[in-house]
Amino acid sequence: MSDKIWVYIDQFKGEALPASWEAIGAGKALAAELGGGVTALVCGSEVESVASQAIQYGADHVLLVDDPTLAEYRSEPYASAVSSLAGESIPEVILFPTTTRGRDLAAMVAIDLNTGVLVDVTAMEVVDGTILATRPIYAGKLFSKVQCSTRPQIVTLRVRAFPKLAADATRSGEITRVAAPLAEGDIATQVKGYGERAGGVSLNDAAVIVSGGRGVSNNPRLVPPAGLTDAEQEKWRAQEGFKLVGGLAQVLGAAVGASRAAVDAGYIPYAHQVGQTGKVVSPDLYIACGISGAIQHLAGMRTSKTIVAVNKDPEAPIFKLARYGVVGDLYDILPPLTEAMRKRLGK
Ligand SMILES: Cc1cc2nc3c(=O)[nH]c(=O)nc-3n(C[C@H](O)[C@H](O)[C@H](O)COP(=O)(O)OP(=O)(O)OC[C@H]3O[C@@H](n4cnc5c(N)ncnc54)[C@H](O)[C@@H]3O)c2cc1C
Repeated sequence: MSDKIWVYIDQFKGEALPASWEAIGAGKALAAELGGGVTALVCGSEVESVASQAIQYGADHVLLVDDPTLAEYRSEPYASAVSSLAGESIPEVILFPTTTRGRDLAAMVAIDLNTGVLVDVTAMEVVDGTILATRPIYAGKLFSKVQCSTRPQIVTLRVRAFPKLAADATRSGEITRVAAPLAEGDIATQVKGYGERAGGVSLNDAAVIVSGGRGVSNNPRLVPPAGLTDAEQEKWRAQEGFKLVGGLAQVLGAAVGASRAAVDAGYIPYAHQVGQTGKVVSPDLYIACGISGAIQHLAGMRTSKTIVAVNKDPEAPIFKLARYGVVGDLYDILPPLTEAMRKRLGK
């Protein structure tokens, strides 16, 4: 396989993550400059349909390692499969989505191949045949430009930072099946099962996120049930506030995010936290409700395409970043906004 650009396709239980198609889109843009096609690496068990999808999304070739040992993601068999293939061909670049598995695998493969890895990249250009990658540093305050001087250049791409191509069912490409290098007996870890968390849209993949901060608990007009302590009253109000945030999210088909203040106060679980010590997201639309816009929160959402802020304080720092700012009480703004959206979207 002579393509210079390889793209790792991250899949879970036979379903590829959309970020994998974004990585193919990014790979095609590089191929236009470096020449040649794009090879997709598909690892898993019974994942031939993922290989076909990769071609529809722009891959020219697929290296398919389809083996029962790869039914669940485990570092050793996956890294071994990718490293042995890349070690033989030494492509110019291997792109991974910056997903949990993608990060893990990129690092393992970089160690195996004794090369560098450029992490969480948001833009790429080619300079003298080498990728010049842009990545945010210092909580997103600065962007650094970095290069990898060894080959293959391993790059993880920030989710939703690169556009995916439209799927084209008429595309054709070559799928090459390759044997998995490790047998089950060679693998030390075993996946015993998964614990499922209650539903909702995943923050990582969401095109729209509606987030709530400490401000969601601030509504003196709401009278809590009798007998609650001050802390319980605050939490009760916050839960009422998050019902408004969740209501808007539901109408928009959005995920619910939160600031750390909201998480630390126990208004909502940590899985919803956006920011430096939470999730880093880049949705098309981010609506921040009752969030001041501390640097650590901005670190997690500043690359959102459009930011809307609802805040009582016209001086709140979030308004410096927001494309649209609504100065007002979220308890007054969100119900009519949700209703207007419901009507407009016919829901
Ligand atoms: C090492 C470190 C890591 C951190 N990591 C993160 C992180 O990952 N994510 C994160 O979010 N924070 C993080 N923080 C915390 C961060 O510094 C802020 O404390 C936090 O983001 C503040 O959350 P907030 O905006 O919800 O609360 P506040 O700063 O208290 O802001 C509440 C806002 O709500 C507005 N408001 C109040 N009532 C209403 C109302 N009724 N309607 C409309 N607006 C209203 C207020 O005007 C105010 O602007 C971190 C801090 C440190 C030190």
